Amino acid sequence: MNFNKIKEAEATHYMPVFTRDNIAIERGEGNCLYDVHGNKYVDFVAGIATNILGYNHPEYTRVVCDQVHKLMHVSNHYYTAVQSEYITKLCEASGFSRVFLCNSGAEANECAIKLARRYFKNNGGEKRILSAEGAFHGRTLATLTATGNANQHRVYSPLPDGFGTFKYNDFDDFKTKLTDDVGAVILETVQGECGVRPFSNDFLVNAYALCKSKGVLFILDEVQTGMGRTGKLFSFSHFGIKPDIITLAKAIAGGIPMGACLASEEVGTAFALGDHGSTFGGNALACAAADAVLTILTEGGLLERSAEVGQYLGERLAHFSKYNFITDIRGIGLMRGIQLSPKIPAAAFEGKLRERGYLVNVAGNNTIRLVPPLTITREEIDGLIAALDEICAATNV
Ligand SMILES: *Cc1c(COP(=O)(O)O)cnc(C)c1O
Repeated sequence: MNFNKIKEAEATHYMPVFTRDNIAIERGEGNCLYDVHGNKYVDFVAGIATNILGYNHPEYTRVVCDQVHKLMHVSNHYYTAVQSEYITKLCEASGFSRVFLCNSGAEANECAIKLARRYFKNNGGEKRILSAEGAFHGRTLATLTATGNANQHRVYSPLPDGFGTFKYNDFDDFKTKLTDDVGAVILETVQGECGVRPFSNDFLVNAYALCKSKGVLFILDEVQTGMGRTGKLFSFSHFGIKPDIITLAKAIAGGIPMGACLASEEVGTAFALGDHGSTFGGNALACAAADAVLTILTEGGLLERSAEVGQYLGERLAHFSKYNFITDIRGIGLMRGIQLSPKIPAAAFEGKLRERGYLVNVAGNNTIRLVPPLTITREEIDGLIAALDEICAATNV
């Protein structure tokens, strides 16, 4: 199918929800993607923080191909060794003792919300769940309700009850909103979709301590920040806190759809038989892929290496503050955001970088988001920095 036919079919048949860049991707190798015309791009999007091993990673690809030949899917009515081995490793690596496996970030958060509600019912009755303004937790009705997007709330109302919000990074507001009818809070340590917006160390530590003192469940959405993205396996480790529930997806299986909701023993056993389930969740193929990802991260040295490279990216980005139209440079590890003044559309920068062979994406608040594979090299970072510098130098405000 040629490029025009590809675009035509999408325009004719796909539901009109995506704004697509004007390229069609054919294949990937290492940290690079190739379009149907054979153009090469160094990928700082990674399927949005998902393809952490890049493309055609030898060990990962071997494990996945072997598993395809052996067994891809059976019902969760049966045990499989590959699922049991994976959940054992995941629990050991995370310090949680209970897990539910699903297929996406939204589903992982939906599971966390249902688990919290089930826990409230077991412990005295219904309670509300608070989320942060600007948060993104997914696109199911419940996770959308916990997502800070007024337009989506408007077009999809009526929304489920039992949710409320607090102001981003505002501990006084958090304290006020944490009334006795609140049973859980859900947040991201770094708000990804909102433009790589981190909560302060103080906010997280204080909010966590207040939740603990009031018996309020602390749910951390690590769908984007988890699996080494911030330089640690999970971002909560940066803050010395231990959430009751965390959710994972995106990078967890290196590009094969998977999500996970992890919980402490007390909270994770709130579900009773039949309370929740999934047809595909945790199938053999996804578990084999996720096991390979976790092993490569923790035993293959990728986690340490990516932490170093993430710091290097932060150092290289720091000097862009000399451009007066760059209003903020934020982030941690290999999750970085460059916010531009409203006069300069970030989408224009995205296009200019693509012309120079670099893929980046625009998140909220006119911010260029960089979430490359964790295998990205210093040379590839240097290349992006040089291209960005060229574009900045040619930009007049
Ligand atoms: C991407 C994302 C989600 C939703 O994940 P899907 O797999 O698209 O459902 C939820 N929370 C956060 C923080 C995300 O970045």
